Amino acid sequence: MSTRRKFLQTSVLSSAAVLTGKQILADTIALPKPVVNTPIVISTWDFGKTANIAAWEILAQKGRAVDAVEAGVRIPEADPTNHTIGYGGYPDRDGYVTLDACIMDEFYNCGSVMALQHITHAISVARLVMEKTPHIVLAGDGALQFALANGFKKENLLTPESEKAWKEWMKKAKYEPEMNIENRLYDKDKDPMPGGPDNHDTIGMLAMDAKGNLGGACTTSGMAFKMHGRVGDSPIIGAGLYVDNEIGGATSSGVGEEVIRIVGSHLVVELMRQGLKPEAACKEAVQRIIKRNPEKSKKIQVGFVALNKKGEYGAYALQKGFTISVRSNKEESVYASKSVY
Ligand code: ASP
Repeated sequence: MSTRRKFLQTSVLSSAAVLTGKQILADTIALPKPVVNTPIVISTWDFGKTANIAAWEILAQKGRAVDAVEAGVRIPEADPTNHTIGYGGYPDRDGYVTLDACIMDEFYNCGSVMALQHITHAISVARLVMEKTPHIVLAGDGALQFALANGFKKENLLTPESEKAWKEWMKKAKYEPEMNIENRLYDKDKDPMPGGPDNHDTIGMLAMDAKGNLGGACTTSGMAFKMHGRVGDSPIIGAGLYVDNEIGGATSSGVGEEVIRIVGSHLVVELMRQGLKPEAACKEAVQRIIKRNPEKSKKIQVGFVALNKKGEYGAYALQKGFTISVRSNKEESVYASKSVY
């Protein structure tokens, strides 16, 4: 035993020795219970605010986090004015709208669909994959077949507006997918879709329910005008979403290839496991992207949001413009995320 440890032990013992048993009890103050901010739901981007409302209806009635996040992200999935998610999403360069989504509950159950066509609510198909199959991922035609067999109806997801944007893009783009890379910084206001740096988004949502259990969901139509068959980070467990009911959850939006490369959401959760607060963990993951690809990271957007078991949340992004929507008993807000550039 080191001399220092011996000294500490002796001094604790001797100060206790001068107190009687009764005195010790009387002087003992119960530790305050940690204040946990629950229920709570957070999501990527400002359109997360409306999605949070649907999630909150379930959370406020003491529903499960996984039910809340599924209900929440179904809102932008059904919104034809949102061209980055679900119905009305921009198609790939061949004109097909293909959706990526995944979901995770408090028991480490997860389900995912990749490159799913013709079904608005990809998230609900992902949930059925989680609950009704021995698998985690179904892709392409197999995912569609499974959805149809489970009562989903085949739909045309390509709205006239999205078709028009795709045809416009085809005139100039030489059939080359654009990965948000330009010789200038991302600016959400100056970069309207289609084709510009802001040609993709995702709703990633994390919730903690009244019981303190976590759930997460993530859904997107991916990079606008991508190659047919391209899959981003969003349906990849650990990349676009990860939920660990012991620690917290994380989800991402932005250029999926860079998130996959660092298995971003899992990284954020593991950093929280090591003691980092959500914002610091998100920042560290963003720094990892920069480290892997310093030049490219100056010209693309990636943002993470994270929630821990205390109901603390945070976000961090490469570029300005990323936002996080939050709903809890204390607030209903949209915050600008901090960013590196
Ligand atoms: N992460 C999505 C993807 O790469 C796009 C985005 O969120 O901006 O498909």
